[in-house]
Amino acid sequence: MNSIAEKIISVNNSLPQGVHLVAVSKFHPVEQLKEAYDAGQRLFGENRPQELAAKAPQMPEDVQWHFIGHLQTNKLKMVLPYATMVQSIDSLRLLEAVNTWGVNNGRTISCLLELHLGAEETKGGLTESEIREILDNASSYGAVRFCGLMGMATNTDDEAVIRADFERISKLKEALSSEYPQLVDFKELSIGMSDDYRIALEYGATFVRIGTMIFGPRQY
Ligand SMILES: *Cc1c(COP(=O)(O)O)cnc(C)c1O
Repeated sequence: MNSIAEKIISVNNSLPQGVHLVAVSKFHPVEQLKEAYDAGQRLFGENRPQELAAKAPQMPEDVQWHFIGHLQTNKLKMVLPYATMVQSIDSLRLLEAVNTWGVNNGRTISCLLELHLGAEETKGGLTESEIREILDNASSYGAVRFCGLMGMATNTDDEAVIRADFERISKLKEALSSEYPQLVDFKELSIGMSDDYRIALEYGATFVRIGTMIFGPRQY
């Protein structure tokens, strides 16, 4: 078994230029995050507000946190003081709340819009038309920086299905970038986790979100 440090170094070395590793540290203790930090990792992903708010003050100040989970509007104050990006904007209501928080706190929040991928019944994410409606009104969210799209492929071993999901989100992101040229920051595509990030790289991922492969099975 390789150490966390070795994993961080080998994953980072395997990524093409312009692709950033989000080390998904949810359910892992701060000691393990520090191991990753000491190996050079600065970008971490968490998906639970309480856990982020507990860990962030224990890590060095140059750590960047991306929030990657479902975020309830009443939990924003635990997340937004720490997160440099919310990758998981999955409803209009959340987007509006994030914008309001930003206005009230004098901050601009970098956000990715989460596209619903996979089967109808799987939870989470916006439809393509909801995303277009949001971007049509982008100027009304003065405290939000629209940085791109995030998606989770269908949870399956069928590589063809995973590729179809990645292709769909990748094409959408390209289309939106040209439809909304005024959104100069709309560049990022966050796709790929431990089991499928190599595939995601073929579809233009700029963030890969990797947990288990680096830290092992989730603890506590
Ligand atoms: C947990 C999580 C990941 C990381 O998954 P692994 O399979 O452990 O790499 C990536 N993205 C999101 C949104 C997650 O919640």
